[in-house]
Amino acid sequence: MNYRHAFHAGNPADVMKHAALARVLAYLGKKDSPYRVLDTHAGAGLYDLDGINARKTGEADAGIEAVLAAQDSGTLPAPAAALLAPYLDCVRSLREGGRKLYPGSPALALALARPQDKFLFCELHKEERAKLEKRVAEAPGAEGRVKILAQDGWQALAAHLPPRERRGVVLVDPPFEEPGEFQRMVAGLEAAHRRFATGIFMLWYPIKDLRAVDAFRRDVAHLKLPKTLRVELDFAQVRALDTLSGSGLIIVNPPFTLADEMKTVLNALAPLLARDGAGRVRVSWLTAGG
Ligand code: SAM
Repeated sequence: MNYRHAFHAGNPADVMKHAALARVLAYLGKKDSPYRVLDTHAGAGLYDLDGINARKTGEADAGIEAVLAAQDSGTLPAPAAALLAPYLDCVRSLREGGRKLYPGSPALALALARPQDKFLFCELHKEERAKLEKRVAEAPGAEGRVKILAQDGWQALAAHLPPRERRGVVLVDPPFEEPGEFQRMVAGLEAAHRRFATGIFMLWYPIKDLRAVDAFRRDVAHLKLPKTLRVELDFAQVRALDTLSGSGLIIVNPPFTLADEMKTVLNALAPLLARDGAGRVRVSWLTAGG
């Protein structure tokens, strides 16, 4: 457990993942009935982009900072800007105190949800969990709506589904620092979907080793779960096995608007987030229907 998300917070992969999560929550929020967010690998919840870890990598410069600069200069195309507004508003509101804070998935979800919505966050790392607990304790209205568990996220997938609300989103965002993470994801998705077939599942994965990514996509498709969307963004033309060249999301049961929304958003973001070239977006169905 060496991974610390503070080194990567606000990077292009975070922007893509958090932009998609914000769209999913906007959709869930259209109905009054409550929903639940299960975040199996939650992280610390909030990150200081001027902090020593974030500055060491500077990854946010090519991520959220590039997006905010485009928004400031009016160069973000209007349809994408409108879809990104809830996410970017949350990021900007955290900066109002003068510090460059960035929301992890728990802080973003809490900011976008309504008073009736509920949250379950799993985080195994003690210090990260303590930071998350502090963050949640400080969040207005979070009391009684949020549970934070020191539970293995993979076990949580089976243990806490279906949620009492019978609607919601499950975000699976492991660090991918241990072998077997792709296989654990496929097995976890299968077990979780069996218990909560109507839930929205978002699984993040790194694009480094293309063969591993191809095998993962094939394995997910073989589960034959209806409505499985693949969303990918390449940030680099040159690929190396040890360098993140892109970011992917498998989304099961996405809102019916999400595929088009992500095309609009990522086509606008790709040139901003790409390290070299114009970036490349792929949004396609691994399985369709329902
Ligand atoms: N979802 C977060 C976000 O978007 O802001 C980032 C999560 S980060 C990529 C992965 C987190 O999972 C790390 O904080 C790590 O400590 C934690 N972690 C690693 N293995 C875990 C496990 N088996 N169960 C729960 N958390 C785990």
